Amino acid sequence: MDAMPVTSAAEETLDPSDWADVQHLSHRIVDDAVAYLRDVRERPVWQEMPGDVRDFFTASLPQSPTPLAEIYGDIVDKVMPYPMGNIHPRFWSWYMGSSNFTGALGDFLAAIQGSNLGGGNHAAALMDSQVVDWCKQMMGMPASASGTLVSGGSMANIIGLTVARNSKAGIDVREHGVGAIERPLRFYGSDQIHSCHRKAMETLGLGNKALRRIATAASLRIDIGALRAAIAEDRAAGFKPACIIGNAGTVNTGAIDDLQALARLAHEEDLWFHVDGCIGALIAIAPENAHRVAGLEWADSIALDPHKWLHAPFEAGCALVRDAAAHRKTFAVTPEYLESTPRGLASGQWLHDYGLQTSRGFKALKVWMALREHGVEKFGRLIDQNIAQGHYLSGLIEAEPALELTAPTSINIVCFRYRAGGLDGEGSKALNTEIMLRLQEEGIAAISDTTVQGRHCLRVAINNHRTRREDLDLLVAETVRLGNEIAAA
Ligand SMILES: *Cc1c(COP(=O)(O)O)cnc(C)c1O
Repeated sequence: MDAMPVTSAAEETLDPSDWADVQHLSHRIVDDAVAYLRDVRERPVWQEMPGDVRDFFTASLPQSPTPLAEIYGDIVDKVMPYPMGNIHPRFWSWYMGSSNFTGALGDFLAAIQGSNLGGGNHAAALMDSQVVDWCKQMMGMPASASGTLVSGGSMANIIGLTVARNSKAGIDVREHGVGAIERPLRFYGSDQIHSCHRKAMETLGLGNKALRRIATAASLRIDIGALRAAIAEDRAAGFKPACIIGNAGTVNTGAIDDLQALARLAHEEDLWFHVDGCIGALIAIAPENAHRVAGLEWADSIALDPHKWLHAPFEAGCALVRDAAAHRKTFAVTPEYLESTPRGLASGQWLHDYGLQTSRGFKALKVWMALREHGVEKFGRLIDQNIAQGHYLSGLIEAEPALELTAPTSINIVCFRYRAGGLDGEGSKALNTEIMLRLQEEGIAAISDTTVQGRHCLRVAINNHRTRREDLDLLVAETVRLGNEIAAA
């Protein structure tokens, strides 16, 4: 047989042919990145993309090489001026954290170091577990609890609710599926619950109807009496009440359910108690406001979101489960006897046994670096600062005759509207929507809107470490100016 032909061509690699070149460009990228964040206040909070920018993203699959410097030039022109996230001091739409430079370095270094957090015996795995331990500590969960870092709050809620379902089903759901559950399970949350819980119920095969939305009082907190009655009604009708989902901060108004009362009720009724703490669980570290989330530490599972009030760059969520064995039993596919080798790379824990992913990114590093740099107390003070700013803005609105609050302000979310004289519901909605769009288009502020108890309103969520009170003063002045202009037109 002929031997394989020996060629003189070197094998290919993705590494640069000239490391000095890439070093030079990388320094420029870092310099630009520093300036980008340093000067963010000077730029518009949002701007529409011109046609050539939109067209740029229709280019077809590249077949041949392009120099990296040219690619970076395109990013500078076509990507960096058009962000959607919350880095700007007057970005208050939906609910997001503001990221931070240290966290960005963390994401960069995580990619360079290249660890896969599926598990194993290496430094990143130890850090992943350490960050989960720090989250348990911040929440007041016992050291024996378990947890996992995931993409965000939606995934963290799915993790918690999956453990709840499997623990309360009365059968082996993993082996036999939800069809084998004898009495249909019922989950409970308030009518303010986040939409991700609907997706979770659908994904878990229980269906949206298995999540009963319980009425809220004027405070927009769950009505405990109505919840108790719903559980009794369901039991009498042959359902199996399985889980109460408490809100530590609703997305509409920031209302925090009475978590202590929910924990007690769950205990009395033998239900799982899950807390959606994507917004408010971290209030537990804020000295002036921690009392608002008392009872959180009694939860069976908690979803929290480091990419909100810890300002980690997207993505970082965390699910915590009090009963570590129940957590592992829900997801582990590694038989105990194969758990790890006695020594070597595979001798660590299999972190993929605590969730749905197999390969996992090194999300812990960005959270770990920022927590070490600033210390947890600073993050707690920043949360107190945002809540104080929420109440400051409420005060400005109450003092301004042209505006009115449309829901009580609990924490850092403020719902209000421009009073449209004699305008009815639809007229008020059209006018306030126009104010919101012009605030965005003029680059002044990004806010969103919602409907609370049937009334449309503007909504400001201050989860932002760059916001100052003068930004809120400006928002009120510009909202009134635009409202007056639109109403007069
Ligand atoms: C943001 C949020 C979620 C979803 O979290 P993601 O990180 O966006 O997936 C769930 N519940 C509440 C209350 C939230 O505010």
